Formats: sequence, C-alpha cells, structure tokens
Amino acid sequence: MSLSSLAADGKAPTTPLPTIPSVDRVLNLPSVRALTESYGRAITTTAVRQLLAELREQLTGNLDLPADAFAETRLAGVLEQRLYAARQPRLRPVLNLTGTVLHTNLGRARLPDEAVAAVLMAASQACNLEYDLAGGARGDRDDLIEPLLREITGAEAATVVNNNAAAVFLALNSLGQRKQVIVSRGELVEIGGAFRVPDIMARAGCRLQEVGTTNRTHLKDFAEAIDAKTALLLKVHTSNYAIQGFTAAVEEAALAQLAHSHNLPFMVDLGSGTLVNLRDFGLPQEPTPMDSLAAGADLVTFSGDKLLGGSQAGILIGRRDLIARIKKNPLKRALRVDKMTLAALEAVLQLYRDPERLAVRLPTLRLLTRAVADIERTAQTLSPAMGAALAGVAQVEVRACHSQIGSGSLPIDRLPSFCLAVTPIVRGKGEGTALKKIEQAFRNLPVPVIGRVSEGAFCLDLRCLEQVDMLQSQLGSLRF
Ligand SMILES: *Cc1c(COP(=O)(O)O)cnc(C)c1O
Repeated sequence: MSLSSLAADGKAPTTPLPTIPSVDRVLNLPSVRALTESYGRAITTTAVRQLLAELREQLTGNLDLPADAFAETRLAGVLEQRLYAARQPRLRPVLNLTGTVLHTNLGRARLPDEAVAAVLMAASQACNLEYDLAGGARGDRDDLIEPLLREITGAEAATVVNNNAAAVFLALNSLGQRKQVIVSRGELVEIGGAFRVPDIMARAGCRLQEVGTTNRTHLKDFAEAIDAKTALLLKVHTSNYAIQGFTAAVEEAALAQLAHSHNLPFMVDLGSGTLVNLRDFGLPQEPTPMDSLAAGADLVTFSGDKLLGGSQAGILIGRRDLIARIKKNPLKRALRVDKMTLAALEAVLQLYRDPERLAVRLPTLRLLTRAVADIERTAQTLSPAMGAALAGVAQVEVRACHSQIGSGSLPIDRLPSFCLAVTPIVRGKGEGTALKKIEQAFRNLPVPVIGRVSEGAFCLDLRCLEQVDMLQSQLGSLRF
C-alpha cells in the first residue's frame, strides 16, 4: 500500500505538494505497530516523526524520492533499521589481540568469574554495603575489604577510592595541602592522557619541590630541600618508561630513613601494584606494595585494575594514622567506590589468598603466564581458516612476536608470543590503504577484533585469545 500516490512515480512533484501521511496513520500501519511492541511507543513515535520530517524536506527540496518512499514495507523497513541500530549498546565486547594484555583503551583487567558473580549480586540485590551485620548498626564500606588488604599486604590500614589517580590526589591533599612535597625530577611522569604528577600536585594544593635532574637524583638533593614547609617525600614508580645509561635514583629505604629522621611521612605511588612476586610466575620482576612497606614507606598507592587484575580502583595502604587522616578528608566521599567495585575487589583479593591457583583463576595472570607453545598452537589452528577468509586480499602467516603487560608496566619487559600476521597482497603504492582496510574489516566484525600494525602487517597477537571460536566463527563475515 502506498500512502502517497503522488510520489509513486518516483518523480519529485511540482505543485501542489503531495499529502504526507500523518504520524498517527504511520503508527497504525500493522508493521509499524509491531515495531511499537518491541521498541516502545515513545521512541517509535519519535522515529516516525523524524522520518516523515526528512521525507517532507526531500519533497519540498524537489529531491528525487524513491517510488515507494511512502509504501508501508519501506517505511517500516527504514524505521526498524534505525530503531535497531539505536538500541545496540555502545559499550561492546571486543577481542583484544593487540598484544597488550592490560590495555587501558580496551578496559584493562578482565574480571575472574568469582568477581563477576559478586558484581551481579551487589548490583541486583540489597547488600550490607555500609551496614554492620554483627552490631546491627551503620558500618563503613572500607570494612568490607580492609581486613583482606591487611592480611595480604601486612599493612596496618587500608582504604579504597575510584582509581589510583584519585588515591594519589587524595593522599597529597590530605597530607600536603598548603605545604611542600618533594619529588625527584626524574619521576615527574605523565601516565596515559591526563595524569601528570605536577598537575595532580597543583590541584591537590601542594607545592611541588623538584629535586635532582632528569637522569640522576641523589639522597643529598632531598636532604637539602627539606625545610619547615615540607609535608612529605614522594616517590613515583616510573612505570611506563625507563631511563637507561648514566642514571641514579634514590632507593626507597634511604628516602624512608631520611623522611623519618625529619618526622615526615614517605609516600610511594606504585601505579601497577601486583600483590605477588611475578618472578615466581616466570614473569619480569615488578615492585610490590609489600616491598615498599618493607623499605619503610608510610603510604603506598596502586591501581585495582592493572596487575592486580581487579576492578577500577585506587588502593591506599600504610600507617593507620595516615589512612585515618585520608578517610577524614571530605574529598574521600567524592572519590569513594561503589558497591560493584567493592564486590569485584573483594572477590579478586580472595583469590590472592590461594597463590598456587592464582595463575589459573585470575585472567590477567593467566594471560600473562600463558605458555608460548600454547599460543603458537592456537595460531597454527587458526591460520588455515584465516588464510581462506582473506584469500585474494592478504597473506596470512604464523609469526613469533612479543606481547607486553601494558598499563604502565615496564615496556621493555616483553613476553614472547605468537601472532597471525596479515600482509596485504597489494605491494608498494596502495599497500598502506589496503592495510587500513584490513584493520577496519576486523573492527567491523560483530565482535570487533583489535590488532596492531607492525612492519607492514596487521598482527593479531593470540596471547589473549582464549575463545578461538569467537574469532573463527566470525571469519565468514569479513568484508573488505
Ligand atoms: C597508572 C598509574 C597511575 C594512575 O592510575 P589509575 O588507576 O589509572 O588512575 C598513577 N601513577 C602511576 C605510577 C601509574 O602507573
């Protein structure tokens, strides 16, 4: 049925304008009524109104309209397409085959099943978030995980905020406002985008006292900078780069001793704090919060979703009096974590109580410790299907490569891995465009596949591919 016979010949009409069907009339078409059922009346009505307005504009603008522009099947078809597209979640699963295990842009740590179950519980049910079940009175949400953090790290006290940037900010504001904080010039780092130590310091109301030089800082540089305005000494773990060559940094133990001899606290921003010795798992050594405490640090901050493998959070551990001061800061309330974060964190911390099974149960550690032979086997398994799906477009070969931990762990510590290297058949001119098209085709898959371009090839590092099916079953949908 065509609702506008005047447009039926496909020509834009001259005067008079055709009658465009009313919104109600379109809404009452049987196939549009069906859309109302599945998408809801309000947004279907809005979509109809918008579509009719567009058609009216095209008519008055004398633009060619398709002959069936007002036919029921066409109207309903266009509406369904738009309503469906608008209902698709913007936050979607992807396959992280970039080779960076903790990829900030791809959500960092994947939670273990135990944590997912805990999140679901906290999200869907009333829970004792701030309620002391033993005493029947108001409780403190930190009590849910402080005992676990104390048990695992040996710290006197602990608290949690939104992320590690917030932890550093809150600690500086609580302990150093209107005072001076001393830090080495070599540690004035920027960590991904907007976290720059000098900026955080300024916003926290602290005066930054830089000492030493970019490559060398000595204990006497700190000692000479201490005066009556000094609030604390700070060490920032320069996690995302390494200064090599003629370098000197002051050991945590020496800084702690110096701070304590002046009755000042010593704080360490560790960034990616792992709670196990990574060397026990055959991985490059990373400093732990326990190492910092043992060296005499009074306060240590680290992320919940980097090497710890949990939810986004900033964890502060250390001296009881300092944690108490931090918790009293009104900004603590503004930076607090929600129940789902705490639920996930508690479940993840529980896994740390059983280190022997941690590498199996905690996805971050499982992926980082995955046997290279296993990754190679996955590559060999996938290679023929991938080659077939890309026939005529690109060549596929299994290639040795290196993954990295990511999220600020030392970029020079790389883990041997295997990838599928996809090389466009076009050589020379047009090669770059072909490569971009391949990258895009993988991004356009139902579950987008994100790789990295390296040495003229689109590389899919298979370290983080645990569900081979999720990649294999989509290969037929690749469109170039
Ligand atoms: C990652 C990092 C931060 C920021 O932590 P977020 O949890 O991302 O807010 C701060 N300091 C250091 C040293 C880091 O590595």
